Amino acid sequence: MGQNGKLFAFLRRHRHELFDEGFQKELEGMYRQTGAGKAPVPPGLMAMATLLQGYLRASDATMVELTVFDLRVQLVLDCLGDMEPAFSQGALSEFRQRLIRTQMDRRLLERTVEVASRQREFDGRKLKALLKVAIDSRPLVGAGRVEDTINLLGHAARKVAQSAAQVLGWPLEKVCREAGIPVLLESSIKKALDVDWNQAEQKTQALQTLCQQLDSLEDWLKKNLAVQSYQPVLAEPLKVLAQLRHQDLEPDPAEGGGVRIRQGVAPDRRVSVEDGEMRHGRKSKSHRFNGFKQHIATELETELILACNVTPANQPEAEAAPVLQQDLERQKVQIEQLHIDRGYITSPVVEQVLEQGGEVLCKPWAPKNGELFSKSAFKMNMRSRTLTCPAGQTERFTLGTVVEFDARQCEQCPLRAQCTTAAPGHGRTVSIAEDEKLQHRLRKLVKTPAGRQRLRMRVGVEHRLAHVARRQGPRARYRGVRKNTFDLRRAAAIQNIESWQRHMERPVLKAA
Ligand code: SF4
Repeated sequence: MGQNGKLFAFLRRHRHELFDEGFQKELEGMYRQTGAGKAPVPPGLMAMATLLQGYLRASDATMVELTVFDLRVQLVLDCLGDMEPAFSQGALSEFRQRLIRTQMDRRLLERTVEVASRQREFDGRKLKALLKVAIDSRPLVGAGRVEDTINLLGHAARKVAQSAAQVLGWPLEKVCREAGIPVLLESSIKKALDVDWNQAEQKTQALQTLCQQLDSLEDWLKKNLAVQSYQPVLAEPLKVLAQLRHQDLEPDPAEGGGVRIRQGVAPDRRVSVEDGEMRHGRKSKSHRFNGFKQHIATELETELILACNVTPANQPEAEAAPVLQQDLERQKVQIEQLHIDRGYITSPVVEQVLEQGGEVLCKPWAPKNGELFSKSAFKMNMRSRTLTCPAGQTERFTLGTVVEFDARQCEQCPLRAQCTTAAPGHGRTVSIAEDEKLQHRLRKLVKTPAGRQRLRMRVGVEHRLAHVARRQGPRARYRGVRKNTFDLRRAAAIQNIESWQRHMERPVLKAA
């Protein structure tokens, strides 16, 4: 994303509003909470540097250099002309970890919402108490390397051997020879096993060889490093290796036994040695990715991002919503309209909005039933709780049940061939969902131009996510859920500052 020079000037002018005395005190509180006393560098300055780092997509080392060489950065950090860096690389990394530990990254995002909202109030356009909020997600490819089973096992074993070498103070080569795992002596496991991977038999044999050497490594560790294996330095890589063997391998039922690569995918399968929280995910039937999903909740009128969450890619959308809901509650947000994707429809936030008299807007399901009449061919009356079929037969229904039409009438019906393939003695069945009332309203909404217009309001959150994607790129900057949540909150905070800037610098139309 191209950096807008005007943002630096804006931050220079308005940094005291963002980091006012109260918020500076909150940031200082991070040091008292962890018993670390006083901050070595003013936390307000570090927080601003953290935001600028996200804006410039700079590494820690580059960010430190920029405090000396980049006038725009010096201007915002108020260190113009300084010949020494404003802070060290270690201090910047430590500050980031502290933000994460104390959840102050969430406060930083909330703070951008507060200042930007307050500005609108000054304008006389008092913010409404009830908000139109939209929630959506996007895929984020993880930073860890994704490998096939053989490479994953080899990679995990190499980490174990390296840790053992560290504990013993030996060279890695000596550990590999003593532990009976010579495959680790080559630069790649597949090179060491050296078979034709297209030949099933050779592949099976190579897997047995690898597993025998893994057993040998584990046995050797038990005999020689039993006590040390409880040390975190060894315990963690051993745990990863055991997890991979358990999830990717299974006993081979063929004659000769041994193990084989698991048929099908283990639930919650780990895909990377380096990042244990990355998972396989799907954006659509054909689009697969490995990593995480980023979720955001945006206010549609102000375009401000109110809350963020990151989950492993295999976690359903509905499970990500409670964290967003919690963060919205912290800000005392009352939702008047909730615009969501169908994936979030079973989340508790939907229930809460409906209970409080709010409205939920979401594209309805398109009922399908092959060549036969779909559910939409039946007339539903929510008031009388009745369902009328295309031939005019009416049945009463209860939410969360399956309605079966009268078998005798169905048997004589001229439309039967288009309606059901039920066995003789049975009528057509139609499932009625627990949330049928909501689905019914959504189906009605999509039938009118005004309703479709309201459903399209959700594109606002898609635009915000597209901006996040442009800012951060398709690949995660960090490993793990928590650090990537921090990075998303930071990107969202920058976007809120840009919205604030756009609002402040918009041309004001004078009355004629
Ligand atoms: S088969 Fe039964 S449910 Fe279907 S249209 Fe005929 S009467 Fe109605």
